[in-house]
Amino acid sequence: MPDSYSAALTIDIGAIVANYRLLAGRLSPAACGAAVKADCYGLGAAMIAPHLRRAGCNHFFVATVDEGLGLRPLLPGARIYLMNGLPPGSERDVAGNELIPILNSMAEIERWQSTSRGMGARPAGLQFDTGLNRLGLSHDEAVRLIADPHLLDGIDPVLIMSHLACADDPEHPQNRAQLRRFREITGSLRLPPRVGSIGRTLRSLAASSSIFLGADYHFDLARPGAALYGINPVLGAENPLRQVVRLQAKILQLREVDLNMTVGYGASHQFRGPSVLATIGAGYADGIFRSLGNRGAVFVAGQRAPIVGRVSMDLITIDVGHLPRGSVSPGMSVDLIGPEQNVDAVARDAGTIGYEILTNLGTRFQRRYVGAQ
Ligand SMILES: *Cc1c(COP(=O)(O)O)cnc(C)c1O
Repeated sequence: MPDSYSAALTIDIGAIVANYRLLAGRLSPAACGAAVKADCYGLGAAMIAPHLRRAGCNHFFVATVDEGLGLRPLLPGARIYLMNGLPPGSERDVAGNELIPILNSMAEIERWQSTSRGMGARPAGLQFDTGLNRLGLSHDEAVRLIADPHLLDGIDPVLIMSHLACADDPEHPQNRAQLRRFREITGSLRLPPRVGSIGRTLRSLAASSSIFLGADYHFDLARPGAALYGINPVLGAENPLRQVVRLQAKILQLREVDLNMTVGYGASHQFRGPSVLATIGAGYADGIFRSLGNRGAVFVAGQRAPIVGRVSMDLITIDVGHLPRGSVSPGMSVDLIGPEQNVDAVARDAGTIGYEILTNLGTRFQRRYVGAQ
């Protein structure tokens, strides 16, 4: 990494594309979309999404209107769905930029209908809440739509979706219950004839984890995010996906310490004898969770070195006293996320999930994109 940087984040686009292909293969004949919300989980949507498009992805899922507007020019011909719905006041931007809102309430349906008036039926998705109780048309709203299909007049429903609560636990009974409810809804909703060029309304239930629950959950289209970026989709199972992220930071300084000395804010770690400390140029402002203080580890030339003391904003301290003298020196890069310790392992130490680790990665690193074809 260049001298001016003390940390580097390497993102393997080839691995993301390989993960996309693996998921698409598992899903076939269902289609594989991509969740590219939150800037591709912090990894850089503008750099990544066009490669997914080239790999054959036609369906991109973002949360917000801004995210959709940012990606629209980069993904010609692809559908971009706004999963957080249609914010009041955004209707013109959404309609004028060929973004597809996922409508989550009767109020959103009505607003999209009045936007569309005189312009013909406009494409939209419909999200039904089947038990997550987070976002989507409620049970009562689903009953009303099933009883009176004219409530959808003026809407071109290109997608019907729902989202599972417990998909990372294959044994959880809520998976089957939500599947049953989604089938009831998709089976009984009488949709207005599609005016769009593609004709069929797509059904989508699966995100990363639910792809691995089996073909019952695949329907027409899945929308994985985490698995594309290397996060293990199934708790406790071997991860079939390639790692995407490597996070390295330099050793800035080495320091000899001795019995009873402490390190860092709050003097939270005390040495029981002589050792050597290395100070690393990355901290919580870079997404190194504060909860990793006195818990996590980094890897120095393949050897584990525990984080000792608290994580501070720009620095962490590691104990390298057990490593051979001369094998550790200032300027060396250590791995915070890498071959010996993937995102899920760091998340476990930090008491969180890989999703939160990725989306918290900071902006001060040198960012390198490798492996693009
Ligand atoms: C984030 C999200 C996804 C993607 O989930 P992953 O677990 O990252 O695959 C799919 N659908 C909805 C509704 C989401 O919020």
